[in-house]
Amino acid sequence: ALQAGIVGLPNVGKSTLFNALSNAKAQAANFPFCTIEPNVGVITVPDGRLIELERLVKPQRVVPTTVEIVDIAGLVKGASKGEGLGNQFLGNIRNTDAIIHVLRCFDDDNVIHVDGSVNPVRDKEIIDIELQLKDLDGVDKKISRIEKQAKAGDKEAARAYEILTGLKAFLEAGKNARAYEVSPEDKEKYLRELGLLTIKPVIYVCNVDEKSVVGGNKHTAAVMEAIKDEQAEILLVSAAIESEIAVMENFEDRQLFLEDMGLSESGVARLIKSTYHLLHLITYFTAGVQEVRAWTITRGMLAPQAAGVIHTDFEKGFIRAEVIRYADFIKYGSEAACRDNGKLGVQGKGYVVEDGDIMHFLFNV
Ligand code: GDP
Repeated sequence: ALQAGIVGLPNVGKSTLFNALSNAKAQAANFPFCTIEPNVGVITVPDGRLIELERLVKPQRVVPTTVEIVDIAGLVKGASKGEGLGNQFLGNIRNTDAIIHVLRCFDDDNVIHVDGSVNPVRDKEIIDIELQLKDLDGVDKKISRIEKQAKAGDKEAARAYEILTGLKAFLEAGKNARAYEVSPEDKEKYLRELGLLTIKPVIYVCNVDEKSVVGGNKHTAAVMEAIKDEQAEILLVSAAIESEIAVMENFEDRQLFLEDMGLSESGVARLIKSTYHLLHLITYFTAGVQEVRAWTITRGMLAPQAAGVIHTDFEKGFIRAEVIRYADFIKYGSEAACRDNGKLGVQGKGYVVEDGDIMHFLFNV
């Protein structure tokens, strides 16, 4: 499953938010969530298309898609140099597909701040710099491996060299790779293998006091200003309120509580929705008599990567994919009928999977 990692400095409210997610009985109907490890939770993503596919295919079982949320604690200044188990935490971030970056935007003298004062823009930069330094490490290594070839006139290597030295300067200027302008093809070809941390899509979650959930405060205004060029999403959430809402069993109580706050929806529900939508996640399906199943991928993923979400062997041994558009499947009613009507496409490694595609992968083992 795709993973979103919660990051942020110590004491900003990460575990409070994670626990609110885990306990969110409130959202259970819409977004069932279960905790599979102390710091890993799984959200089931509802999708009406699964019901339609079930009706047509009549499989033995239907498996909706899930998104995992991981609480990545312990990121501190110096992490990229291995301080405080830092490298291990950066490794955990490498495994995630998206980042939920929690920023402390509440004043509370009872909650100690590791850097002595509440300043979410500084906090964000501390985390960003650690991730950028880690990325620089990888970029530098790659550059030194290809430098000779590039200078010897190898065209591929020269192109890679150009892109990577550009990225290096960009990171050194304190910017995140996600804002580096490069075509999707070049990104796939030259950057994907580097496993960059700062290229991952991000949502900034401003953890605010209850009075600021609707209108924000001076801290959230500063964050908005700081990220305006990042094209990142921002959410105002009060982790403290969320933990209160999460344990309310009664739907009416919860609604009244939210209305009192001036909210129509809990922060947890908004966060889950945002994680799914704003991080450009899309769904493709596999539809067989044994199982109809939804799989989550990021928009722009190529067929082999999409296959890799099912199993890494599918990606490694990928040969081709048979693809039926969701609308065609519904119109013709079965794979066979789609095939007969020329609606089953055979696609290779360069195919960009679209939302709703019904995929059948052929691969070598
Ligand atoms: P983490 O280290 O980022 O996981 O932070 P925690 O979730 O453990 O929170 C650190 C401290 O801040 C705890 O004492 C929380 O109760 C408190 N805290 C978390 N969120 C809020 C909030 O929204 N408002 C206030 N006043 N305190 C909070």
